[in-house]
Amino acid sequence: MNDILPPESARWEWFEHTVRELMRRYGYRNVRTPIVEPTPLFVRGLGEVTDIVEKEMYAFVDSLNGDPLALRPEGTAGVVRAAIEHSLLRDGGKRLYYIGPMFRHERPQRGRYRQFHQVGVEAMGFPGPDVDAEVILMARSLWGDLGLFDVRLELNSLGQPDERRAHRAALVAHFERHRELLDADAQRRLHSNPLRILDTKNAAMQALVEAAPKLIDFLGEASLKHLDAVRAMLDAAGQPYRINPRLVRGMDYYNLTVFEWVSDRLGAQGTVCGGGRYDGLIEMIGGKPGPAVGWGLGIERVLDLLQQSGIDVPASAPDAYVIVPDAAALPQASAAAEALRERGLAVVLHAAGKDGPGSMKSQFKRADASGARHALIFGADELARGEVAIKPLRDAVAPQRTRSLASLAAWADELRNA
Ligand code: ATP
Ligand code: MG
Repeated sequence: MNDILPPESARWEWFEHTVRELMRRYGYRNVRTPIVEPTPLFVRGLGEVTDIVEKEMYAFVDSLNGDPLALRPEGTAGVVRAAIEHSLLRDGGKRLYYIGPMFRHERPQRGRYRQFHQVGVEAMGFPGPDVDAEVILMARSLWGDLGLFDVRLELNSLGQPDERRAHRAALVAHFERHRELLDADAQRRLHSNPLRILDTKNAAMQALVEAAPKLIDFLGEASLKHLDAVRAMLDAAGQPYRINPRLVRGMDYYNLTVFEWVSDRLGAQGTVCGGGRYDGLIEMIGGKPGPAVGWGLGIERVLDLLQQSGIDVPASAPDAYVIVPDAAALPQASAAAEALRERGLAVVLHAAGKDGPGSMKSQFKRADASGARHALIFGADELARGEVAIKPLRDAVAPQRTRSLASLAAWADELRNA
């Protein structure tokens, strides 16, 4: 679990701002659900035999009343719970998004933390492949906004429950024929969740997994039609993708379309965004049956990718740093700083220490370190004439000038319009 401090936090703010702007363009509205939910919500929603529920969830008993609670390991279950609780889908589909921390007790490594942060979208109440394509293309649009151009798309269809059952039977038969090649995890999952064996990271099992029956060969007409429609929309939008029959995702709740956005620049943790359709989840959590599709994106991984790609975030430095040679000038200096902030400038006032504001030299050092574009010097002589000195700090040739205090607001407007 990490502290996010300046200047790193500026990257986060810029990223979040970019995300909110994206959501506005697509008509997705913000939801904020609690970080703690009843444990059974995740057990029911994600599936009992999933990595998250089996070994990654921070679940505990509330010592005050015995309630089983969990820090949310992902965002979808909570949003679906909220949608049911508040009848959000009563008057039609809803397009929603969230940004916030998630918690998984995993082995910490690059791109994998115990408190990490996700952006997620959930489009609920829409059955068609058009919305699948919409959420996929939203992510593409975000890569564009961020300046990322080498994130690739992988796509698969998980079909419907009956198609999965037929595939599962064939899969179990296949793995049973080669029982001696299964590791302990796979042995255990053979009958509880054989699909998850396909997700194994064990190199020794890759050949076995490669040769396993593919779900796509068990899909019926309707599922294939849905997949084809998504593909047609991605094609029309000029978005390349690779069909990856082994893409199954970590949660049980997915059906039909599943997808991941992957980068090769992040080592083993290359998936920056993953999602799909989850038409059964609303009913599973106790709501009226309704279709839904969404994705979750790992913010740490995207920020890492930005760094790997050499993409600099617009720096945020103050417009002006207020220098006060003598403490007697503080009231006028602070009033002027207030007036400039009201006009929209970012202004940092040199804060006095126990023995006053300190030497000019030390104040200029601070001004420089702050990254401010200008120093405003409230010297006694200038103030006596109703003026202030303005010294450009980032331009070696621009001269220092004085301006009347009365025209500082106009100066602020000039800066903002420059
Ligand atoms: P992985 O295969 O990397 O474990 P996942 O399938 O568990 O990912 P999801 O549950 O789909 O991941 O979450 C969506 C995204 O959240 C992931 O694609 C990834 O970018 C990010 N993510 C997941 N777990 C972590 C973590 N522990 N730390 C940082 N980011 C994470
Ligand atoms: Mg995981």
